[in-house]
Amino acid sequence: VTFWLCLIKDFETRPSVTHLLEHPFIKQAHGKDMALSQQLSTLIHEQQDDCHLTSPHLGFELTTSWLYSNRHERINTRKTLIIESSPDDDLVNLEVLDEETIIKHLSKRYDELQIYTYVGDILIALNPFQNLSIYSPQFSKLYHGAKRADNPPHIFATADAAYQGMVTFCKDQCIIISGESGAGKTESAHLIVQHLTFLGKANNRTLREKILQVNPLVEAFGNACTAINDNSSRFGKYLEMKFTPTGAVMGAKISEYLLEKSRVIKQATGEKNFHIFYYIYAGLYHQEKLKNYRLPDKKPPRYIENQHGKVMQDITSSELYKEQFNAIQDCFRIIGFTDQEVNSVYRILCAILNTGNIEFTAITSQHQTDKSEVPNAEALGNTAALLCIGPEELQEALTSHCVVTRGETIIRTNTVDKATDVRDAMSKALYGRLFSWIVNRINALLQPDLNICVAESGMNVGILDIFGFENFKRNSFEQLCINIANEQIQFYFNQHIFALEQMEYQREGVDASLVEYEDNRPILDMFLQKPMGLLSLLDEESRFPQATDQTLVDKFEDNLRYKYFWRPKRVELCFGIQHYAGKVLYSVNGFLEKNRDTLPADVVVVLRTSENKLLQQLFSSPLTKTGNTATTEGNDAHNNPCLVLFAPPPSPRFVSSMCWQYSLMDLLSKMVVGQPHFVRCIKPNDDRQALRFCKERVTAQLRYTGILETVNIRRQGYSHRVLFEEFVNRYYYLAFRAHQMPNTSKENAVAILERAKLENWVLGKTKVFLKYYHVEQLNLLLREVI
Ligand code: ADP
Ligand code: MG
Repeated sequence: VTFWLCLIKDFETRPSVTHLLEHPFIKQAHGKDMALSQQLSTLIHEQQDDCHLTSPHLGFELTTSWLYSNRHERINTRKTLIIESSPDDDLVNLEVLDEETIIKHLSKRYDELQIYTYVGDILIALNPFQNLSIYSPQFSKLYHGAKRADNPPHIFATADAAYQGMVTFCKDQCIIISGESGAGKTESAHLIVQHLTFLGKANNRTLREKILQVNPLVEAFGNACTAINDNSSRFGKYLEMKFTPTGAVMGAKISEYLLEKSRVIKQATGEKNFHIFYYIYAGLYHQEKLKNYRLPDKKPPRYIENQHGKVMQDITSSELYKEQFNAIQDCFRIIGFTDQEVNSVYRILCAILNTGNIEFTAITSQHQTDKSEVPNAEALGNTAALLCIGPEELQEALTSHCVVTRGETIIRTNTVDKATDVRDAMSKALYGRLFSWIVNRINALLQPDLNICVAESGMNVGILDIFGFENFKRNSFEQLCINIANEQIQFYFNQHIFALEQMEYQREGVDASLVEYEDNRPILDMFLQKPMGLLSLLDEESRFPQATDQTLVDKFEDNLRYKYFWRPKRVELCFGIQHYAGKVLYSVNGFLEKNRDTLPADVVVVLRTSENKLLQQLFSSPLTKTGNTATTEGNDAHNNPCLVLFAPPPSPRFVSSMCWQYSLMDLLSKMVVGQPHFVRCIKPNDDRQALRFCKERVTAQLRYTGILETVNIRRQGYSHRVLFEEFVNRYYYLAFRAHQMPNTSKENAVAILERAKLENWVLGKTKVFLKYYHVEQLNLLLREVI
C-alpha cells in the first residue's frame, strides 16, 4: 500500500519533528524503527519537498509532501491524509460579498501562502514571488480526479477540471489565463502543461518529454527581460495539447500571436533583447566558438549591448546564460531538430547580431549627396558569410533600391537614415520569420501520429497565455497592440460570463436578475470598426507616403469621437485611451513605420539567393504575419454572437494592424468552440516581493477584471446548461437501469435530478440549468454507479 502524507509545513519556522511524530501511524512505527527516525529527521532538517519513507513497521510506504500551513489534517477512509478545506476557498461561499470582504480574505490567504482562490469555477492566482513546493508529482496525484472541495484551490485543480471535462463530455476545452505583465500567467501555463502531461500519461514517454520542452524553447526566443518582469513574454501563445478519446496525450500544437519584433533592434532603457541572443553569445563564448560564428569577442554586438557598457562581462560571466544555452541545446535535441537545423538557426541568430553592427556613412560626391556606404566591411562580410550570400549584393540591397517608373527600372541610392532603416527591417524580418519557422517545426515534430488521427478523432485542451495589459511611462505601437488584444480577451470573458448567460436565461424563460457589468464593447468598436476605427485610420494613413506622425494623430482626433479617446493639450504627438484596465497615454512616434513593417524587395531578392536551406525556406513564401495562417473554416465562429465583432478583414494590405485583428480573430474563434476555464492572475505588489499584499493594487486588478461582478453572477447564476436530451443520455444510469435507455424527455431529466437529490436547479424550455457544483456532484455519483 502506498500511503500519502501531506505534511503541514509552517513556512516561518521549520516543521517540527514532534508534530510529525505525534501522528498516530508514525508514532506506532517510530519507537520500533531507528532507521525510520533517521529518515524522518533528515526529511525535516533538510526540508526536502518530497520524500519516500519505508519501514517494515509502518506496514506501508509513506510518501510525503509538504503542504500549506494552518490547515487541519484529517484522514479519510482511503487512508489518505488530506487537507481540510476552508470556507473562503471559494469566494462565492462567503456570506458577505463586497469588495472589502473579498480583499480581506485574499489578503489573509496570501499571508498563509494560499495563493489560489476560487470564484465559482474561475481561479484567482496571486503571484507568490517565491518558490512554493506545491507543484511536485505528489500534488498532481493529490489533485487527480479529486473532489474539488477536498483540497485547497490549486492550478492543478483547474487543469484537472479541463481534462476531466474533455474526457467526460468529449468536448474541447480551453484555459484562458489573463492578468497584467508579471502577474504569473506564463508560470501558470507551465504548471497546467505539467499537470496535463501527468494526466495524459502516454505510453510514449518521449512524447511527454518533448511536450515539456516546448515552452522553454519557445520562450527563449519569445521572452525578454523588461522593466516589469525578467521573463516577460513578448508574444501571445496558444498551446493546444491533443489527446485521444481515452485521454492519452498524443501531440501538441502551438500558435504564436504577434511577436514584438522591434525588440530585436532596440530596447527601452533597462530592458533587454530576446533571451536567446544572450544565451547564444555566452554559450558560444564558453565553447570558444565565437570566431566560428563570426562574433566579436572583445565587445558584444550592438543589439545586445546595454547602456552601461559593462555588458561584455555581464554576459560572459553569467552562469545562468551559459546553463540556459545548454538547456536550449537539449530542448532542440529532445524535440527532434536535426543538428543541421540547429546550426542554421544559430547562424541566422549570429547573422542578426552582426547585422546590427553594420554602420553607414554618407558619401558626398559631385553628383550625389544622399548616398551611403558601409565603412566597417567586417560586420558586412560576417553577416553575408553567415547568411551565405554575397557581401557586395548585401551592401547593394542595403544602400540602394530599385524603383520601376514607366516600365523602366531605376536604381536609387539610400541615405544613411534610410539604409539604417533597411538594415533594421532586415534584422526584424529575419528574426520574425525564424521564430515562426521554429514554431512550425515544433508543430510538425509534435504532430499526432497520422495513424492515430485517422483512427480516433482526438480532443484538445488549449492554453492561452497572452501578454498582459501594459501601461508604461512611454507607450508605443506595441503597447497599443497588446492592450487591444487584452480588450478583446476581456470582451470574451464578459461575453462568456455575463452577456451570453443572460441571453440564454431570457431565451429559456428562466428568471435572471440582471447583473450590471462594465461592457467594453464600445472601446473595441472604437479600435476595430471599419472604416472609421482607430486601426482602419492607421492603415489608411500608412498608405500615404507623405503621412507623418503629426498627420496621424490629427486624423485620430478628427475622427474618433469617443469618450475613451482624448488628446492631451500639452503633450505633443500623443493621445490617450481609457482602457477597461485604466488610462494609457500613447506616443505616436514611429506608429506609421511600425505599422507598415515593410521589408524592401531588394533585400528579399538577395536573401533568396542564399545557399542556406533554412534561409531559403524563410524567404520563399510571400510576406505573411508571423505565425500560422489563420483559418476559421470548420468552426462555428461566425454563428456565435460572441464573435460578430471579429469578422475577418478584407485582404490585408498592411501587415501589422490587419494581422493583429486577424490573428486574434483566429484565436478567439478557436476558443469559442471549447468549454472555457478562466485563470485570473493577480500581481500583489509591484516590487516582486514575497508576502507583500498591496491592497490598492489588488483592488484595482479585481475591479477592472470584473471579479466582483463575477462573484455575484456565479453565485446566482447557473454556469452549466445542458439540453434535456444530452442530460438524460449522460446521466440516465443514476435513475434507470443500464440497459433501459429511457427516452430523452424533460420528465426523465427531472427524474434523474430528483433521484440524485440535487437542489436549486432550474428547468428552461429545452435545457436543465445547473449550478457549477452540480456537475461535480453528478459526476461523482456517476463514477460510483459505474
Ligand atoms: P506573466 O507571464 O504574467 O508576465 P510570469 O508568469 O512570467 O508573469 O511571472 C513573473 C514572475 O513571477 C516569474 O518569473 C516568477 O518569478 C514569479 N511567479 C509567478 N508565478 C509563480 C508561482 N506560481 N510560483 C513561484 N513564482 C511565481
Ligand atoms: Mg508571460
